[in-house]
Amino acid sequence: MPMSTNLSKSLYCSGVQCPKMLWLKKHRPELFDDSVMDQNVLETGLAVGDLAMGLFGDFREVPYGDLIEMIAETERLLKDGVENIAEASFAYDGMFCSVDILRNLPDGKAELYEVKSATSVHEIYYHDVAYQMYVLEHLGFTVTKACLVHLDRSYVRGKELEIEKLFKIEDLTDQVRAMQDDVEARTASLKQTILNPDEPGDDIGPHCSDPYDCGFWHHCTEHLPVPNVFDVSGMQKRTKFKYYNQGVISFEDLATGAKLNDGQRLQISHALAELPDQIDQQVSGASSPAFLIRCISWTSSLSSRRCRCMRTPAPMIRLSFSIHCT
Ligand code: SF4
Repeated sequence: MPMSTNLSKSLYCSGVQCPKMLWLKKHRPELFDDSVMDQNVLETGLAVGDLAMGLFGDFREVPYGDLIEMIAETERLLKDGVENIAEASFAYDGMFCSVDILRNLPDGKAELYEVKSATSVHEIYYHDVAYQMYVLEHLGFTVTKACLVHLDRSYVRGKELEIEKLFKIEDLTDQVRAMQDDVEARTASLKQTILNPDEPGDDIGPHCSDPYDCGFWHHCTEHLPVPNVFDVSGMQKRTKFKYYNQGVISFEDLATGAKLNDGQRLQISHALAELPDQIDQQVSGASSPAFLIRCISWTSSLSSRRCRCMRTPAPMIRLSFSIHCT
């Protein structure tokens, strides 16, 4: 059976980040390492999306499920004149999208709102919203507003959560309208990528974690020696790629051909000499009792009144704890 070239909004955005990622998602999904998906981020994204649904007053939500049924339910709600539809779903020429909030206006006009649990507008969001405008306008809507809804970092929660203050609406209409030719050309190119039976030969690069960590990293780096330059601690990503592109990849290469700080040199020399882990070594040499202190941090996207430091969106909460080693 020929490979389906159907695209969703998220597959399209994967293709914007890396066409090979899209190809792998279609042809080799079993290679995807889902440990790159942060459960906390996913859950807060859903919670933020749910909160934003009420931004414009009463709304009806299209239940998540079978795509054909979602599209049919959207058509029913549009026909009934429902003004605010959450998860309004559409398909045009193999391009599917669910609009987080669709404002259904008279005379075939519509406003679309994409909700993100971020605190600013990232480049990939323009592609995301441009894709939705393309689908809607090819189905006959006149999109009068295409916006991104994100958390407003300046908001400080009082007794009640005020969602109209929690969110900031950025109007991207002009920018994403100017991208419509790009969506058309890119979609055609991505469909060709999908139809290619051979895996694209694209090499790894900074795009592998920008804007999102790619779950095919292990697959795309399986030809590299282990350990390699990407395992060095405390080295900036762009420096790692600089050495990678120069062919300075293995720890042996790095020991002689890279500028390393003391910690990196120690890490590499220990690995090459196959010495025990530094922490194990230091703990085993310490007199009892020994304490290992670790710090962790945690980011919450939603404001809470339970704690003063969590009343603004996306605060970085630093926590620390110790492990008692005897
Ligand atoms: S790891 Fe990098 S090169 Fe490989 S599919 Fe992902 S983004 Fe593309």
